[in-house]
Amino acid sequence: MDSVDSNAQRLLSLIVKAAQLDARQHAERHDLLRQASALLWWLEPGSSPRTIATLLSCLSLPLEQWLDSRFRQGYQGVLQFADEPTMLCNAIALETNPRVGWERVQQIVKNVRDLCRTRPRGDDEYRLFRMFLIDHGVVDADRSLDFLIPLQVSFNSLYEPIPQHLIRLGQVYLCPSCGWPMEIHRHAVSCGAHWCEQTVGIFQWMDDELVSVRNAKVIPPHPAKNKYRLTPPLWTFTLIPGLLELRLRDGISRLGVSAELWPDVDQADLHFTLDDRTYSLDAKVWHSTKNLGQHLASTPLTDTVIVIPDYQAQYLHTLDEQCSPRQIMSESQCLRWVKKLCQR
Ligand SMILES: [Zn+2]
Repeated sequence: MDSVDSNAQRLLSLIVKAAQLDARQHAERHDLLRQASALLWWLEPGSSPRTIATLLSCLSLPLEQWLDSRFRQGYQGVLQFADEPTMLCNAIALETNPRVGWERVQQIVKNVRDLCRTRPRGDDEYRLFRMFLIDHGVVDADRSLDFLIPLQVSFNSLYEPIPQHLIRLGQVYLCPSCGWPMEIHRHAVSCGAHWCEQTVGIFQWMDDELVSVRNAKVIPPHPAKNKYRLTPPLWTFTLIPGLLELRLRDGISRLGVSAELWPDVDQADLHFTLDDRTYSLDAKVWHSTKNLGQHLASTPLTDTVIVIPDYQAQYLHTLDEQCSPRQIMSESQCLRWVKKLCQR
């Protein structure tokens, strides 16, 4: 990581921490923004220093309006809405701080994986667990989750209460792509994942109905009572990439090749065999491809091909430079590559 990147990480981390604080934690927020202001002035010596009041109001403006692209690490959007941190804000915290994000998820998933490896039907149980997380962005508290007991996973390590600001008149509105509660109070409503915005578009309130801007379909409300949502780290690092994993499996299967998700208790996200050779794929859906690159560059090199969404194809070149010799492709590129392998 060069010094601009490490300073950008530090700056983002200060700003995001300030946006995540409750308005009552005035002194802590003030202190974080004071540090951010000093760092910004040091990074941009030609411009006038930003006051804490200015930075505070910037939290509810799109990052791209007030932060130079060199310091944004590819992030776009607002960090706070009505004094609550947005999903973008949480996503930046998760992607820039492995301890709260990636490593925490890895630990939960690893515990289940290790246990499944010792059980006679562990492969099936592990797959059931991963599919359950992808299919259940929200669960009802009375739903029986008995299958978690032998896997020694507690409900609370996977699900959490739905924050009040995502509830409107006792109802939640679930993202049609991932099933997570949407950020209903924003002008352009979505769950906060770029993947979902690209796949199903955004939504807007028309009178009392939440309507798709793309196809005018109405999103039905669901009673929020007794409902819990998948925790943000699991949503970010298992559910959302899981949607790309499912699409890759279906795309490869359509080429007449059998593809298996989480083979041998998660040796990779997906593998397929052609002419006695097995290929492994890992799907990655991060907001910031720059932070994804840093993450990949810091993990051991394997033969697994990394697949990112098509809407991030423009960053493939930079990712290649960051992570060479690791193979990285977009979803469409990957399917074209498998098709070519079939024609050999
Ligand atoms: Zn979504």
